[in-house]
Amino acid sequence: MIIAERKPFQEIWEMIRGYERIMVVGCGTCVTVCWAGGEKEVGVLSSQLRLRAAEEGRKLNIIESVIERQCEKEMVEEIADKVREVDAVLSMGCGVGVQTIAETFEEKPVFPALNTTFMGMPEREGIWVERCAACGDCMLYWTGGICPVVRCAKGLLNGPCGGTRRGGKCEIDPDKDCAWVLIYQRLEKQGRLDLMERYYEPKNYRAVKRPGKIEAAIR
Ligand code: SF4
Ligand code: SF4
Repeated sequence: MIIAERKPFQEIWEMIRGYERIMVVGCGTCVTVCWAGGEKEVGVLSSQLRLRAAEEGRKLNIIESVIERQCEKEMVEEIADKVREVDAVLSMGCGVGVQTIAETFEEKPVFPALNTTFMGMPEREGIWVERCAACGDCMLYWTGGICPVVRCAKGLLNGPCGGTRRGGKCEIDPDKDCAWVLIYQRLEKQGRLDLMERYYEPKNYRAVKRPGKIEAAIR
């Protein structure tokens, strides 16, 4: 899922300077799960904004809303009536959500309240870890399902680098496991250690077209 975290309050406050009617919009999917932009976080941010406005004697009307998935235009269109009533929208979705709202209501300023950080998974309660950089050329078959692009500090496709610490820790960050030790151990468990001898060609990152687009056959 997509992981994000809230921007510092002051940055958000500066963005909405000059606007009186604001809609704070959360997203009910990834950012709800990672505690960054769900219903609760929309409520907390809205309260902080109201409090700050009261302290400064500034007029500020806030509407709170949560869309099930901000990255889907059909769902974003459901808030069209509310958006018409405000001067600006503060999105608590990921960068895709912000842009979907901005594309749907082009005449309305739409600001990001979150920083979208990575694609990851929950490790334990309150902690999420990066697992994929969407490189466009997945090599997980060869690496026992462990991505060296994001889990090796140097992004080495053919590891380890030679600096691995005792206990299988990374030379760059001793708190982290060396990705290539993990890959070795995983392949060993699967009886596929021969894959460690394979040379993986440098990735052709130019093959990753930006912006990405996939056209699935209509079923
Ligand atoms: S190799 Fe890593 S970064 Fe590339 S698609 Fe696979 S998991 Fe994602
Ligand atoms: S020690 Fe392992 S994870 Fe760290 S940079 Fe070297 S190969 Fe990558």
